[in-house]
Amino acid sequence: MSGFDETFDFVVAGSGGGSMCAALVARVAGKTALVLEKTGLIGGTTCKSGGVMWIPNNPFMAKAGVPDSLEAATHYLNHVVGDHNDAPGASRARRQAFLQEGPRMLDFLMGKGLKFSRISSWPDYYDEAPGGSVPGRTVVADLFNVNELGDKAALLRPNFLNMPVSLEDALQLPHVKKSWAAKKALVRMGLRMITSKLTGKRYVTAGAALQGRMMQAALQAGAELRVNCPVKELIVENDRVTGVVTEKDGQPWRIGARLGVLVNAGGFAMNQQMRDTYMPGSKIEHTSVTEGDTGEMIQEMMRHGAAIAQMDSFVGSPLALPPGAELWPMKPGVQGVTAAPHAIMVDQTGARYMNEGGSYTEYCMRMNEHNRTAPAIPSYAIFDNRVMKNVMIAGTMPGSKKPAEWTEKGFLHTADTIEGLAASLGIDPSALRGTVDRFNGFVRANDDADFHRGARAYDRWLGDPFHKPNQSLGEISEGPFHAVPVIPGDVGTLGGVVCDDRARVLREDGSPIAGLYATGVSAASVMGRTSPGSGVNIGPSFVFGYLAAKDAVAGG
Ligand SMILES: Cc1cc2nc3c(=O)[nH]c(=O)nc-3n(C[C@H](O)[C@H](O)[C@H](O)COP(=O)(O)OP(=O)(O)OC[C@H]3O[C@@H](n4cnc5c(N)ncnc54)[C@H](O)[C@@H]3O)c2cc1C
Repeated sequence: MSGFDETFDFVVAGSGGGSMCAALVARVAGKTALVLEKTGLIGGTTCKSGGVMWIPNNPFMAKAGVPDSLEAATHYLNHVVGDHNDAPGASRARRQAFLQEGPRMLDFLMGKGLKFSRISSWPDYYDEAPGGSVPGRTVVADLFNVNELGDKAALLRPNFLNMPVSLEDALQLPHVKKSWAAKKALVRMGLRMITSKLTGKRYVTAGAALQGRMMQAALQAGAELRVNCPVKELIVENDRVTGVVTEKDGQPWRIGARLGVLVNAGGFAMNQQMRDTYMPGSKIEHTSVTEGDTGEMIQEMMRHGAAIAQMDSFVGSPLALPPGAELWPMKPGVQGVTAAPHAIMVDQTGARYMNEGGSYTEYCMRMNEHNRTAPAIPSYAIFDNRVMKNVMIAGTMPGSKKPAEWTEKGFLHTADTIEGLAASLGIDPSALRGTVDRFNGFVRANDDADFHRGARAYDRWLGDPFHKPNQSLGEISEGPFHAVPVIPGDVGTLGGVVCDDRARVLREDGSPIAGLYATGVSAASVMGRTSPGSGVNIGPSFVFGYLAAKDAVAGG
């Protein structure tokens, strides 16, 4: 190895989900570790996100008496993800490594003082499939007092939820009018706000709690984290990645990596050119990822022969964007509206074409598929006034007065009758009337014979817990009636470089590129083109980061 400005044992490009976990593994093995982050903030989209990790058979399930096993989880992924030649990121060996090593990775982190818990109810998205879990397999970090990071606190990227509330409690809050559990959650949050004021503590939640805790553990273990340090190139000598080129004071700065380089630099959701190539028709204005998600490290790995896969797939996020929202860093989701009782989604001919519940990724894929045969982008959320009163619409509080420009600019449509609403949307009134009547008949029979909405626990979880007999199904019958356009957005891409079960980056011929590892959405997802549950992006990012570092310190 030659001509380096400095040298570490293990170098990580990007400060995403698995980065600090990998750095920690290296430090515990007595190796030097460096994380290079391109932006001025640590944590990536992981830090902004819900921070939920999907870790089947985790210790918190066992503690709560929730049944799970490696076999059940294997069945589940075999069924939901399956074996597809065009999704090598989700090879059987990688799925198995993920399932087997997930609980070990958690044990390792907890052994280093990390604090986690589970969310008591977040069903797998295909909970009816063999091995599916109705309580769910989520793991989240406990709230974190960011002041514990001392002078590094300002480097932690903010979360989308700027409140000192756990995710478990935050999920209750929308039901505060009807639920004692929600009222208690509100009181807990209020008390925390007061004690924070008195003690000077500053709690962050969700992804920021996860990445804040990881940052603390990595720093305490002696890992080095640098911001404003983009990795520009991989250095390859004798067919082995031996380092990276970053920048220092505007000049190239060559850093050697004795044991290997891990790329955890996100996907390409913010790169319109790559979208045009791999996901034509999609737009950077319809994503909520962070600004660093520009895909250049995927391209750099390709330049050195890495194979890529699943580049057409993404983590779906059905959106309703009011005027101006294309510029918001956090785009408002709409599935909470269309999956609520008294609501459906239709295409531009007024036809329903899918279960409005279920996985958000499948939801958006179905929108794209349907749009090939009927105009479905945008589709329309059709709902009655109860939804308007009880559900958040495009980031506004339930029942609140909506901005006048929503109507003026054609975002929100309202009419006293279904036929009037159809006319306002340019849909044949008798078609929409027919769709609503048919759906209302299904509601009365408590059986959505067309799309089976409400049959699975996850659909019902998305609905109204107080609505009977089915939390997901309610007639659309109390005017005025409303509609907003729905488009398929995303919270990240799922395609990237192909890796093996040790997170080594592979060439087209299946041979590993020595010294090069990848995890997170820089790698083709172990979930293929699916989202089997909540946390299926961050969970694998951690697990394959952990495995990469273990492999590297063991000699590769
Ligand atoms: C609002 C929201 C909520 C979500 N909730 C969840 C959830 O609860 N669970 C879940 O599993 N998924 C969730 N997702 C999706 C998930 O957050 C992402 O898929 C995941 O965080 C990606 O993590 P990662 O480890 O691949 O990298 P990231 O967290 O995206 O981090 C990559 C980092 O690399 C940096 N980088 C990029 N290029 C370079 C370079 N050349 N040199 C150095 N650094 C570079 C970037 O700036 C970034 O900081 C959510 C997404 C959003 C937007």
